[in-house]
Amino acid sequence: MSGLIDLVAFDDAMARYEPVIGLETHVELGTNTKMFCGCPTTFGLEPNSAVCPVCLGLPGSLPVANRAAIEYTIRIGLALNCAIASWCRFARKNYFYPDMPKDFQISQYDEPLCTDGSLEVAVDGQKFRIGIERVHLEEDTGKSLHVGGATGRIHGADYSLVDYNRAGIPLVEVVTKPIPGTGALAPVLARTYVTELRDLLRALKVSDVRMEEGSLRCDVNTSLAPYGATQWGTRTETKNVNSLRSVERAVRFEIERQAAVLDAGGKVVQETRHFHEDSGTTTAGRSKEEAQDYRYFPEPDLVPVAPEASWVEEIRSSLPELPATRRARLQSEWGLSDLDMAALLNIGALDLVAATVAAGASAADARKWWLGELARHANSAGVELLELAITPAQVARVAALVQDRTLNDKLARQVIEAVLAGAGEPDQIVSTQGLAVVSDDSALTQTVESVIAANPEVADKIRAGKTPAVGALVGEVMKATRGRADAARARELILQRLTEGR
Ligand SMILES: [Zn+2]
Repeated sequence: MSGLIDLVAFDDAMARYEPVIGLETHVELGTNTKMFCGCPTTFGLEPNSAVCPVCLGLPGSLPVANRAAIEYTIRIGLALNCAIASWCRFARKNYFYPDMPKDFQISQYDEPLCTDGSLEVAVDGQKFRIGIERVHLEEDTGKSLHVGGATGRIHGADYSLVDYNRAGIPLVEVVTKPIPGTGALAPVLARTYVTELRDLLRALKVSDVRMEEGSLRCDVNTSLAPYGATQWGTRTETKNVNSLRSVERAVRFEIERQAAVLDAGGKVVQETRHFHEDSGTTTAGRSKEEAQDYRYFPEPDLVPVAPEASWVEEIRSSLPELPATRRARLQSEWGLSDLDMAALLNIGALDLVAATVAAGASAADARKWWLGELARHANSAGVELLELAITPAQVARVAALVQDRTLNDKLARQVIEAVLAGAGEPDQIVSTQGLAVVSDDSALTQTVESVIAANPEVADKIRAGKTPAVGALVGEVMKATRGRADAARARELILQRLTEGR
């Protein structure tokens, strides 16, 4: 294949072709032990220190299925509205790979534990019900390290090392049905789906879902066909996409690449492709194996999995509140419109606002600060809200100081700025920088007197009954106190002084 790829601009591709996407997400389960033995699953252990005859595939060793992994898989299946099999078997998937000690992988084939579910996601307020084909259990492989080459790949390496610590770690694979009808939303929908799935898995406490550590990774299927075609196009499978952003980029790139192939009268080849983080492109890997190449057969060393209906119901009743339910509940508790809620989600502020409310702020105040002042700071610093050096508790404290009139909005913004700059806790900043509102009458009265004396014409108007003119004098008081006066109290004092006894 040539090194240069002509692409068709995304919008042009979307004008002529209809994409169909599909996502296979591999999730490392957070069980303490491996899938078929008692070895620990701790991340970052000394290479080959968490291994035993079973996960090394030594002759005569026998696997035993991990009950917790089965329970976690059922939990995932139930949360994805799947049917749970009352009886199913593991299958042997035969292929040779150096980091797979048994030369086969124990997986599930035609009898997955969970089938036919769905997950609803929303993009720009448009809802999509993503069909879930299956959720099945399998074991992870080991990890190869190629030493001496420039690229870290096997080509050009002096030698390779294998770490079997990962071999046998329980993995769940969540496979969607093909997703047609997305049009140009395909890339962002793919990303949104994986995000929603990640949040769901996190809420279920079945995995730490760290994409950067490989505990959640995605294979992205993409195909393209001309609008009105009776058949979907040939799909490619981009393997091991390791970040949410990359999921979106991989779909987008494949659409642009496949459109170019089709435009040139070519045929898209059914194959596995690799995604390159640095360039955002994919390159061809091996051509895709068919199921028969793996010579699947039921795993003879394991008994079938037959979860009792009562156990499944017990798991169902122990499911936590799921992200979609939580969002709906918070939206109604906070009295937000769909649009307000979408704004909050888009900016990634849901958990921050929730935590700020939990720390005592009103929902209106929490939203105001995170979506206003703090979003502005994050934006100008080019970081996410979550990365700002301020906690929900500190935001709640600032809101409380505004509520009890220790601060006005302007002073509150200064306090927030100081917190972000690392100057300490809000109360500490208020006292050390003298930022509290001056509402003490003796201090304010003095300023009011001098402002009235300096603005006799305005004062006369007010005396003559033109009350709205008081605004100008309040403005002068604020100026004189550098924004620290309690404006409402200043207004009262001015009116008292000029209109009382008339
Ligand atoms: Zn082991």
